[in-house]
Amino acid sequence: MTDCIFCKIINGEIPSDKVYEDDKILAFNDVDPQSPTHILVIPKEHIESLNHLDENNIDIIKEIYIKIKEIAKEQGLSDRGYRVVTNCGKEGGQTVGHLHFHLLGGRNLQWPPG
Ligand code: 5GP
Ligand code: ZN
Repeated sequence: MTDCIFCKIINGEIPSDKVYEDDKILAFNDVDPQSPTHILVIPKEHIESLNHLDENNIDIIKEIYIKIKEIAKEQGLSDRGYRVVTNCGKEGGQTVGHLHFHLLGGRNLQWPPG
């Protein structure tokens, strides 16, 4: 997936401010933060969107959510609260076609979103 910017971040072609990395997951600060903490957590496997999850690749979601919880704790958000968002498709606001989870926190987050 050479034209995917998140795959380029994974392979180091595009620099990023990494928060966490292992063999299957990468977390890095969003370049355009919408809250004091705005971290993107992504699978290293290129999965285009939530629509492309199935029984063959769903196991990574369990690991990603465990990691999000751990990162939230490291960021001091466990007790304050935080939000995890996955945009899917055009009307869902997805602009990068590589499945990702926004971890947002550090301020009172508006609900419902716009
Ligand atoms: P989406 O709109 O697809 O849900 O979220 C994509 C996110 O990726 C946006 O919040 C955007 O700011 C972020 N983003 C896009 N390009 C880059 C980049 O090159 N580096 C980083 N760190 N974030 C990016
Ligand atoms: Zn990708």
